[in-house]
Order: sequence, then structure tokens, then C-alpha cells
Amino acid sequence: MSSNRITAYIGLGANLGHPLRQIENALWRLDNSAGIQVIAVSDFYRSKALLAPDAAPQPDYINAAALLKTSLPVRWLLQRLLFIEQKLGRTRGQRWAPRTLDLDLLLYGQQRYQLPNLTVPHAAIHKRAFVLYPLRDLAPNLVVPGLGSLQRLLRRCDRSEITVCRTEQGPLMHIDSPKII
Ligand code: ATP
Ligand code: CA
Ligand code: CA
Repeated sequence: MSSNRITAYIGLGANLGHPLRQIENALWRLDNSAGIQVIAVSDFYRSKALLAPDAAPQPDYINAAALLKTSLPVRWLLQRLLFIEQKLGRTRGQRWAPRTLDLDLLLYGQQRYQLPNLTVPHAAIHKRAFVLYPLRDLAPNLVVPGLGSLQRLLRRCDRSEITVCRTEQGPLMHIDSPKII
């Protein structure tokens, strides 16, 4: 096995169809992709949808994050994420429209990119509880390039809109009675 694999973190989200099933399917597809290995998966969370101004209400999201090892260059990894989204029924309309699957590349090693169609670390990583809490499950001592420690970002983040709906290896908790974090 190649020793120069990169550690990457991705965010997974879904609020249409069968969100848990789609997320699990996406994890399986990622792990079965050439050059990608899924090492660990966070707890699963439930969060309120981000809404564009004047947008209609949407179902809550299920969110998680995964730690990957990859030998793929960053652009190929993003392409793979977009391809899996498409395979699982993602269509693109309005910004933040409801979706069967969203796969965001959160971190790619400690590297930073600001390219057309590729910003890493993900541009909103520091603002979103549904990203930061799953990342904490995977790597509590993580440092986000350009933004500092995950612990610091968590302290500044509003967590009122998310709840845990499944803990690692635990049974699926009833989605309507989630645990408050
Ligand atoms: P947000 O980016 O605010 O979470 P979103 O996930 O709904 O919104 P999408 O419609 O899924 O946005 O993605 C739009 C484009 O963002 C993609 O086509 C992709 O090229 C680009 N993009 C740039 N950086 C990233 C990244 N780190 N991860 C995923 N997509 C990215
Ligand atoms: Ca997103
Ligand atoms: Ca996305």
C-alpha cells in the first residue's frame, strides 16, 4: 500500500428520499472506489436545513463526516464525490435546495486550495455545527488550516440546531427523539 496517502475528511448530508440509506450507500461507494479507503465514520446527526432567503421549509438533514485515506489528487477526489452524489439521485437547482445526497470535501491533509470550483478547507467549515461536531467525533484535536483548532471553532459555533440521532456502532435512535448534545 502506498505510504503517501493523504488523510481527508468529507461531510455527508441528505434530506430527501431515505437519508440514512443514501449516506450509508455513499460510504460504501467511497470505500469501494479506487484510491479511497474509509477509515472512520462519525456519529449521525440531525440538523435543520439551511435555507436560502424566501425558500420554502425543508425536511431536516441527516449529517455525518468520514475520515478517508486517499491516493487521489484533490481534484479527482472532488470529482469522485460529485459522481457519487449524481449516482444517488442528486439534482442541482437552487442553492441549498433539498437533496438526496451532499458530499463536501472538508479537508485534504493540511493543504489549502482556492481554485475555480474547489475551495479547501470547505469555505463554510467553521460556521456549521453539523460539520464541526461530526469532525470532533473523528479527530477532536484537529487543526483546520487557516482557521485554528477545531476546539476553538466549536466554542464559537451555535449548536442549537443539531442533535445526535445515532452514535457509533449503537442502534439507530428513534429519529423523533434524538439525544441533545
Ligand atoms: P455549500 O458549499 O454551501 O455547502 P452546497 O453543498 O449545496 O453548498 P453544491 O451545489 O453541492 O453546494 O456545490 C457547488 C459546487 O461547489 C460544486 O460543483 C463544487 O465544484 C464546488 N466546491 C468547491 N469547493 C468544494 C468543496 N470543498 N467540496 C465540495 N464542493 C466544492
Ligand atoms: Ca454542502
Ligand atoms: Ca456540496
